[in-house]
Amino acid sequence: MSNVINKTVLISGASSGIGEATVRELAGTGARLFIGARRTARLEALAAEVGPNVAWQALDVTEADSFAAFAAAAEERFGRVDVLINNAGVMPLSPLAALKQDEWTRMIDVNIRGVLNGIAAVLPRFIAQRSGHVVNVASIAAHLVLPSAAVYCATKYAVWAITDGLRQEHDDIRTTVISPGVVETELGNDITDPNLASALKSWRQKSLTPDAIARAIRYALEQPDGVDINEVIVRPTAAN
Ligand code: NDP
Repeated sequence: MSNVINKTVLISGASSGIGEATVRELAGTGARLFIGARRTARLEALAAEVGPNVAWQALDVTEADSFAAFAAAAEERFGRVDVLINNAGVMPLSPLAALKQDEWTRMIDVNIRGVLNGIAAVLPRFIAQRSGHVVNVASIAAHLVLPSAAVYCATKYAVWAITDGLRQEHDDIRTTVISPGVVETELGNDITDPNLASALKSWRQKSLTPDAIARAIRYALEQPDGVDINEVIVRPTAAN
């Protein structure tokens, strides 16, 4: 039997992949879910499908005001905010020499600034209520630098550092890094470098499905308040 998660959980990047799978995984746990992304038609369809404890709002994580409004709307809808899952991310890989500076900026804006905007949106509440849980979806790319992925890896190293910094600063706030290996999602579909786009197809031959990551997130959330799962690394077995 599953544990009941009697909490309000905010999820960014819920319109596809790991975020969508996490919505499905948590929907039956008793958690109240407030979900966001830019593709609102997908959020609306998902919320309609999974049930009454799910509400949605348009969210652009790169905009601090958008994230603040998102957290405020979640509190208005469900009475409080207990958990933030910073899941939104982008991965337009390219070698540095290609000088795709717009893509570097987009990764920094979504993957780092987006995480910080999320933290800023909930942290004052968590401090005031002396509890809260921030789950940041990083990557195995937070631990090693992959070929043609310097900027993406830098953003994920940053997510790891920000999460541990938050943990060190607050005794009452739980922090979790989720570090997936390759997962079959839409991530990387916007890679503009033809060699890397084709490499991505081959990496995905040995990949997890998003529900594997959703279960890891659920595991971290289900722990009693005194137990803080600081990181979960999930790789496909066949990747070694
Ligand atoms: P998807 O591309 O399927 O999902 C990414 C999500 O991020 C989408 O819901 C997208 O929604 C959202 N997003 C992107 N930009 C923004 C934005 N500016 N504001 C709000 N939401 C945004 O990929 P995944 O599910 O794989 O990615 C989820 C996380 O997992 C990412 O952080 C990724 O780095 C990480 N990860 C993924 C791995 C993999 O192999 N797939 C491996 C390791 C980590 P929308 O476009 O509707 O706004």
